[in-house]
Amino acid sequence: MDEKSLIRYSKGRCASCGTIMEVKEYHDLDRSRNPDITGVLMEEDFFMWECPQCGRRGHIAYPCWYFDPEEELGVALVPDIDSSTGAAALQGMNRNLEGLVQSNITRRAVGNFLALREQIAARYFGLDDRTVQLAKPLMIGQLQEEGKEVWNGYFVQILEDLGEEPLPGVLYLGSGEEEVDYSRPVYCYNVYLTDHTPMAVGVNEYAFQLCQELLDQSGAPPDDGRFHLYDLNWAIDFHNRRQQG
Ligand SMILES: [Zn+2]
Repeated sequence: MDEKSLIRYSKGRCASCGTIMEVKEYHDLDRSRNPDITGVLMEEDFFMWECPQCGRRGHIAYPCWYFDPEEELGVALVPDIDSSTGAAALQGMNRNLEGLVQSNITRRAVGNFLALREQIAARYFGLDDRTVQLAKPLMIGQLQEEGKEVWNGYFVQILEDLGEEPLPGVLYLGSGEEEVDYSRPVYCYNVYLTDHTPMAVGVNEYAFQLCQELLDQSGAPPDDGRFHLYDLNWAIDFHNRRQQG
């Protein structure tokens, strides 16, 4: 980690054994000052803590701001903004932004580091992050039908140059007229069960493009430079509204 990043220390308490430990927080995640920050953020242990006493591991989240001027992406991490009380926080952020809006900057609010990484990955692969969200209920619905209790899921990457065989965990949809082509790219997500067990899942390109079409047909407005929160709940609401309308 570059020392140009601002490091702060806070105290955390282990939920299992109550041990108080020091948590290292990196702030000022600004690529113009710290070009290496994106790679560091993508490392698995960046936002993991491990209790020195009992070995329990978990995710940390603290308020911080990620900015990549080249990709024109700004992401505000506000812990739990994706909860039921988050809407007011989002409104407040946009009030503070008044007069400062640059419509070329995509601004997003996320509730944890997994969602921040998802935003960076979606941008890297040139995807509309709303489409990334819309694919989630397809996969999660399937897991729930198998009796799994899902907490959330986050896009990770696109895999290309695949073989002729289907990949485990991937939802393959097709038009029904043509056979599914397993060599096409798949969109990979990590889905977490309520006990935080991660599962590697995905959708095929047909399913992802279907979601893109749904978004295009919905007349969703282009980005306006204000903060938006697009997450699993937003995607579920979108699909519900569509079925009712
Ligand atoms: Zn512990």
